Amino acid sequence: MNAEIIAVGTELLLGQIANTNAQWISQQLAKIGMPVYHHHVVGDNMDRVQDAFQTAERRSEVIIITGGLGPTEDDMTRDAAGMILQQKLIEDPKSMDRISSYYEKNRLPMTENNRKQALVFEHAQVLQNDEGMAPGQIVTHEGTMWVFLPGVPSEMKQLMTECVLPHLRKTYDLKSEIVSEMMRFIGIGESSLEDELSDLISNQTNPTLAPLAGEGEVGLRITATGESHEEAVNNVSEMKKVVLDRVGRFYYGSDEVTIEETVRDLLKRQKLTVGSAESLTGGKFIEALISLPGASNVCKGALVTYTPEAKHHVLGVPASLIDSYGTISAECAETMAENAGELLNAGVTLSFTGVAGPDASEGHEPGTVYIALQAGSEYSFVESYHFDGGRDKVRKRAVKKGYELLFY
Ligand code: ATP
Ligand code: MG
Repeated sequence: MNAEIIAVGTELLLGQIANTNAQWISQQLAKIGMPVYHHHVVGDNMDRVQDAFQTAERRSEVIIITGGLGPTEDDMTRDAAGMILQQKLIEDPKSMDRISSYYEKNRLPMTENNRKQALVFEHAQVLQNDEGMAPGQIVTHEGTMWVFLPGVPSEMKQLMTECVLPHLRKTYDLKSEIVSEMMRFIGIGESSLEDELSDLISNQTNPTLAPLAGEGEVGLRITATGESHEEAVNNVSEMKKVVLDRVGRFYYGSDEVTIEETVRDLLKRQKLTVGSAESLTGGKFIEALISLPGASNVCKGALVTYTPEAKHHVLGVPASLIDSYGTISAECAETMAENAGELLNAGVTLSFTGVAGPDASEGHEPGTVYIALQAGSEYSFVESYHFDGGRDKVRKRAVKKGYELLFY
């Protein structure tokens, strides 16, 4: 058994609205273990809507259609399906009552068009729409289940939750529950992560493992099914243990957790404060921390020094150092971190200096970045990196690398 979701509406094809209906419906179907093989978007055009329905009938057992149930000329879902289902459309008395009382209450004239919204297929199971006008419908035809839902997301969701999902569970005897967790890693590339877990990724069917490359970090989605929610949760956590055994040192959190939050909590626990001296990152590093609640406990501030003069006058990087090594150098990065640490009185200080691009600078290729880390007089570290991508990406990757360094 498999399902297909068809969203009807030219505004979707024009990109005026996103097809969030299909996204939401897919998420709900995944939770009850109903596989979705196709999403289809079609404009308000009779031939093409019919074509979409015929294609769906050939390949899917459950067809869920949203949109095109309204009163206007371009709402043609019913008429298009009518030709395939070979059923007459009749007026649903309950829906008609709702519609006419709406017009009476609001003292609006009701047109013949408005009656259209109360039309349902003669053998349909009618799904009462508490939020809007047009009811939903479920029609079974030659072994295919057709579900018609309004396009308005709140109406669609109400009918899905209250009528369609329970009906699907009952009809197809769906017991399985799906649970998934997104594990997040930093300091390991996607291919290395895949290497470490390759046997699990290729052999597992329940749970399944799917690596996902992110910006300067990697995700791993573990998805498990079970007869009950508890069983599915258990299957996920068993697999998580195996994964942590192998690559746990790179793991920083799951699902909505970000590396910035993780670092904030880490600093707080260790009663450490952080500051930065930023050139190409322009304050982005500290901004990411300050945008989080609780930043005041751990954040000292940033000194943004872009030009060599600013690095000299504000941060006290000696002119002779800049003359000998340039500003894109380990020496400059180290001095920036050291001096900013003193000025800001920070426990840990990071400095960022490099070339974001698009042009080379001081003879260095775009993407060359030096990051130094200074922790009082006890610990210091400096490293050069090369980040790929345009200006924006290089700056983001530098910031991410800063958080990675703090994490370790
Ligand atoms: P109405 O009675 O309001 O005309 P309808 O069933 O005919 O309802 P549409 O006219 O297709 O539905 O859509 C109504 C509104 O619902 C759209 O303007 C849009 O904002 C939203 N909508 C429709 N389809 C989708 C979709 N696939 N994803 C998200 N929103 C949608
Ligand atoms: Mg409409």
